[in-house]
Amino acid sequence: MSLADLTASELLDTLGRGEASAVEAAREYLALIEQRDGDIGSYLRVDAEGALAQAAEVDRKREAGEELGPLAGLPVAVKDVLCDSAGATTCASRMLEQFHPPYDATVVAKLKAADAVLLGRLNMDEFAMGGSTENSAFQVTRNPWDRGRTPGGSSGGSAACVAAGLAPLAVGTDTGGSIRQPAGLCGVVGLKPTYGRVSRYGLVAFASSLDQVGPMARTVRDAALLLEAIAGHDPHDATSLEEPVPQYAATLDKPLEGLRLGVVKEHYGAGLDGEVESAVRAAIAQYESLGAEVREISLPHSKYAVATYYVIAPSEASSNLARYDGVHYGYRTDQTKMVAELAAERKALSDAGDEAGLAQLDTALVRMYRKTRAEGFGPEVKRRIMLGTYALSAGYYDAYYLKALKVRRLIRQDFDAAFEQVDLIASPVTAAPAFKLGEMVDDPLAMYLVDLYTVSANLAGIPGISVPCGFNTAGLPIGLQLLAPPLKEARLLRGAHMYQQATDWHQRRPAFSATPSE
Ligand code: GLN
Repeated sequence: MSLADLTASELLDTLGRGEASAVEAAREYLALIEQRDGDIGSYLRVDAEGALAQAAEVDRKREAGEELGPLAGLPVAVKDVLCDSAGATTCASRMLEQFHPPYDATVVAKLKAADAVLLGRLNMDEFAMGGSTENSAFQVTRNPWDRGRTPGGSSGGSAACVAAGLAPLAVGTDTGGSIRQPAGLCGVVGLKPTYGRVSRYGLVAFASSLDQVGPMARTVRDAALLLEAIAGHDPHDATSLEEPVPQYAATLDKPLEGLRLGVVKEHYGAGLDGEVESAVRAAIAQYESLGAEVREISLPHSKYAVATYYVIAPSEASSNLARYDGVHYGYRTDQTKMVAELAAERKALSDAGDEAGLAQLDTALVRMYRKTRAEGFGPEVKRRIMLGTYALSAGYYDAYYLKALKVRRLIRQDFDAAFEQVDLIASPVTAAPAFKLGEMVDDPLAMYLVDLYTVSANLAGIPGISVPCGFNTAGLPIGLQLLAPPLKEARLLRGAHMYQQATDWHQRRPAFSATPSE
């Protein structure tokens, strides 16, 4: 058995027992990436040299009997949205193609302090906006289960990487479903923590009141291990929570006695794929056979969740992305060309005696801002900026943004009421399995509707997990989502683990030929 076949927890034990070295594990993963990722496209950049150096340092520390961190020697790959001073952080955007952060995000610093081995940086939708990873300015990522289909998004690189066995652990971010949805579509585990459970310091902001960083892995146990290493209060993030981090991994095997599982009656309407519905219902039946009591609950405002999210998230994005002006960060348009163009326009207007036109002509600074943003951002990011700017503008603010905030409160209250009756809520992750690449690129609304089951958790700030619960007849994975009350990650993980103990969906692997197809 190769080291890359082991789960992260098994690999950690193997390394701990001295049966293999961190360098061997890193080498094995780097070879697999070399062999397979040409077909998948999950990594934007692989840091072989850095990874081998970190691995060698872990081996040295172990040999010298020095204290080791909780992820000692475990390879981890990180979505390209968390700052790492070791290289670029691009957010899969031209705007940040050359951005080298001067500091580490807290999550990255924690991974380094935990003695993890950072393999590289993963593809994503530009600025985490999207649900298919097709909005990346740099490359397409393919679903390891069907290369003609999307891995989902925006953490599609993270999900595909774990599903393809190109890292045992990956870090993703979830603003409206971007950890859970790609995890569901790629047949891996993905957890979005409670808002504030994991520090956002050094996470390039999309929608600050919704963004959370979380673990992706093949098993719930591995996700628990990674969450434990990255969670916790951070004085650099005022929204991070003070509560101590429980021992998620150590408490995992404690059975959930008398679990009350909520099934949301509004979730099973038109639009839900038949095979997804059967798989999710079978998973719920499995819980019943494990002793859970299943109760029907109602989340009456969930039908407004997508609309609410697509007002709030773009509004916050339009504000967060104002900083990309060609001065503070990243890309700047070719100024020599821009100045020459402006001079030519000025001359043409003045030759034509067009005083009004001259009065309206951009100053060089304004033209630089405009061109920088026009060239640096992709179409979906521009769409979000326009939607958000509109929703926040005078005259519309009350009708859209303020209204959305009120509905957000009602959505949270629905969950508060539901969690009086149940301990966890079960639902589909998405209404259908992975869609074809290109299928929705020209239909943003269809793409937004994919987020139906995931956005509510972000609006309410509660934790959610996606676990594999079956495959459709075409062999595509199907995900089960579990939701828990704020800060009940331990319960969420135990509930998901209990299901994984009883099923083997998470043990299936996509097929790879020995040599890449190119
Ligand atoms: N698909 C959603 C969006 O495009 C969610 C993205 C995310 O969670 N980062 O906004």
